[in-house]
Amino acid sequence: MLGIESSCDETAAAVVEDGTRLLATSLVSSAAIQAQYGGVVPEVAAREHAMAILPVVDWVLKEAGLDLADIDAVAVTQGPGLLGSLLVGVTFAKTLGASLHVPVIGVHHLEAHLYANALMAPIEFPALALLVSGGHTSLFYWQGHRDLRLLGETQDDAAGEAFDKAARILHMTYPGGPQIERLARQARKKSFKLPVADMHGRLDFSFSGVKTATAALYREHPDEPEEVAYALQEAVVRALVQTVKRALARYPVGDLYLAGGVTANEAIREAFLHLGAELGIRIHIPPVSYCTDNAAMVASLGYYQWQAGETMGAFEGPKVLFPLGQREGE
Ligand code: ATP
Ligand code: FE
Ligand code: MG
Repeated sequence: MLGIESSCDETAAAVVEDGTRLLATSLVSSAAIQAQYGGVVPEVAAREHAMAILPVVDWVLKEAGLDLADIDAVAVTQGPGLLGSLLVGVTFAKTLGASLHVPVIGVHHLEAHLYANALMAPIEFPALALLVSGGHTSLFYWQGHRDLRLLGETQDDAAGEAFDKAARILHMTYPGGPQIERLARQARKKSFKLPVADMHGRLDFSFSGVKTATAALYREHPDEPEEVAYALQEAVVRALVQTVKRALARYPVGDLYLAGGVTANEAIREAFLHLGAELGIRIHIPPVSYCTDNAAMVASLGYYQWQAGETMGAFEGPKVLFPLGQREGE
């Protein structure tokens, strides 16, 4: 399975066998270019994808020691994401599929994030899955392949967005998460405490308040950015752990899967491993390099959809808005 990812600012390709065995993966990011603008500019992202897609695919095939003729199917991120960015990947995948006479499978980017875990070991169902990325913070009950129920999601900013926006307040560039983490590591006092939103027992999240509180704290303590960064990170960790703990009490499963770029964060990883030990459940977190956008996760999910007979229609295109998982009770 050749996987293609181009939903945001990373152009990625990967070859995965049977959904689990990674043969090669490659990625080109326009993040450094985007950093000059303080965020992702859609037209710039699309242009960079168009330039990167052929070399990236060529490279993974060489790395895997394969020819195009060895590819059995192509999986591509169909959405959600930026239209121009998605169009590059989807058009490429459909053209390649048509020319090779192999099926093309359109996958959901967020569901694909969860499948970074399938590259390690088969998923144990039923499970809870927490996706913490640049644009989303969502909690799912994961009953089986293609069977996700949304338990809760952010009501405003995503956790990654809070890190990215706070980084800008602290005069750092995009993407802010890794920089906040590095800065937070230098904190010594660790005495500031930021509030997290009270969700009244629901399994939702809210991170816009903590972002505003971070800005106010930094105005009061402009000479202690590392303490401010630490306080933000600690508040995000607290909010995530608190909600997942609440969910585990209602849905007592033995496996919790984490995914998404923000779960590259060491403090978050540690907090959840600690929670797992406390509650006696298994915590699964992908290696750091598979937390952020990549195509291996796309190829993995694509395999399971292919097995289920779900291929992309000839007249199907990108889905900019693409909900995932029915909300409980809906
Ligand atoms: P989505 O998947 O919701 O469409 P995305 O693809 O942009 O959004 P990812 O690539 O999964 O999101 O993750 C990027 C986000 O992860 C950014 O917000 C970035 O700041 C954050 N991030 C990356 N590394 C870290 C880290 N070490 N600590 C905290 N946040 C991090
Ligand atoms: Fe992503
Ligand atoms: Mg990204």
